[in-house]
Amino acid sequence: MSTRRSPDSWVRAEVSRRAFLAGGLALLPYRRSYASGSGSQPVRLQTSPFTLGVASGDPASDGVVLWTRLAPDPLNGGGMPLEPVEVRWQIARDDRMVNIVNSGIAVASPMWAHAVHVEVAGLEPDRWYWYQFRVGNETSPIGRTRTLPNPGTPVDRLRFAFASCQHFEMGYFTAYQHLAAEDLDLVFHLGDYIYETASRDGDVRQHLGPELNTLDDYRNRYAQYRGDPDLQAAHAAFPWIVTWDDHEVANNYAGTVSNRQDAVDVFLERRAAAYQAYYEHMPLRRSSMPQGPSLQLYRQFSYGTLASFFVLDTRQYRTDQPCEDAIKPPCDGVFDPRATLLGAEQERWLFDGLDRSQSRWNVMPQQVMMAKVDLMPGPPQRYAMDQWSGYDAERTRLLDFLRRRRPANPVVLTGDIHSNWVNDLKADFADSKSPVVATEFVGTSISSGGDGADLSEVMKAVVAENEFVKFYNSQRGYVSCEVTPAAMRADYRIVDYVTRRGAPRRTRATFVVDSGIPGAQPA
Ligand code: FE
Ligand code: CA
Repeated sequence: MSTRRSPDSWVRAEVSRRAFLAGGLALLPYRRSYASGSGSQPVRLQTSPFTLGVASGDPASDGVVLWTRLAPDPLNGGGMPLEPVEVRWQIARDDRMVNIVNSGIAVASPMWAHAVHVEVAGLEPDRWYWYQFRVGNETSPIGRTRTLPNPGTPVDRLRFAFASCQHFEMGYFTAYQHLAAEDLDLVFHLGDYIYETASRDGDVRQHLGPELNTLDDYRNRYAQYRGDPDLQAAHAAFPWIVTWDDHEVANNYAGTVSNRQDAVDVFLERRAAAYQAYYEHMPLRRSSMPQGPSLQLYRQFSYGTLASFFVLDTRQYRTDQPCEDAIKPPCDGVFDPRATLLGAEQERWLFDGLDRSQSRWNVMPQQVMMAKVDLMPGPPQRYAMDQWSGYDAERTRLLDFLRRRRPANPVVLTGDIHSNWVNDLKADFADSKSPVVATEFVGTSISSGGDGADLSEVMKAVVAENEFVKFYNSQRGYVSCEVTPAAMRADYRIVDYVTRRGAPRRTRATFVVDSGIPGAQPA
């Protein structure tokens, strides 16, 4: 999606805009924002400000968010003058930007790193659109996006992919090249979009700068990642729905607690900087604008009557990990009913939403593994305390809720651990006769962990010991899914290497969940 449209379509747009403005008072906001910016001087830029590409996201049946950020010098604070700049946007029914259905002017403010988030409304449901930005004489690449079907409408099919964990230093984003070439309606990102660690030698690429702490640090890191052409292509090809994990702020943080004993106010200042930079670089709605160290990220999407997505945030509201946040035998804190990943409000929102849902599939895109996987072969038990296994009471409440209330076809999507898994989620993991209440698809990393391997001897033993685990693989890639009223299919796409460019795509495994029968089967 990198074709640049011909200048004459902007002339046509300009003519229609003038015709529109000549009609009345709509001129005022335009003049006012222009005057508060660079006076009567048009913006002059030495180089293209569209170095970070374009993106779209949080689709609705009548609209979508269009995103770009002006950054002629992306790795050094952006390189824009410290003043608001007008950015024109257009959205069309065709990839040549001829049949324009809406256009306007957004103000890119230095307060928000000259990012723009245009919430387009008035679009038709369930169709493709193309969009483009312009500032001065510079035009952005053309992006493609898609609206959701009308809520309540029957839908035959949805195709989406989910991805997570893209450590820039540990590998190329080849998987995104393959993802961008798929026939998808939507992409979910489950977190670890950036990593906060300092630059280090010896990997295939290098972070710039120290461990992230300030707003400028985080902005430059997002700019470095978003400069990647494969990531840009994946954003330009589909609307994305994003959520985060820990590395968007700091490794294994929990709510207000950093994992290195920072004072709460010191850590919240860092969290506020990280959350702001996240918002600035993601195609999120105004409802997700950060307020200091808070950002509303959990939210629901409905894809006709076919699927509801409950996008979860398991970082912002969680209590500290029990048992010193490691892989440990369970301590008392694991069973504390007040220990939480979601927080009381989000848990209630999830249960209410699941109870009300009329959808055929109820999908929970989230971060950390929900299945109770014992990571120590043999009689001793070891659980990862950063995952749902560190928060057993809350997991039991959720799985018991699914067993009792029976929302249709619950499926959990997970990232975080740089490996592919397919798990049955059971009301009681210790009891082999306990019913399967949901399915968990865990997707591997885009690049984190380097090339990876299929299945080590240790992991073979772990899989054998945890009988609800149906599949494991630790190579890089993403998961491509197809949902119909009858079934949900997950294709585990992998690349054999990320430390060199150009790996072809392989499908390592395919699993299917039939509607009405929880648990995935190999296809
Ligand atoms: Fe990660
Ligand atoms: Ca064990």
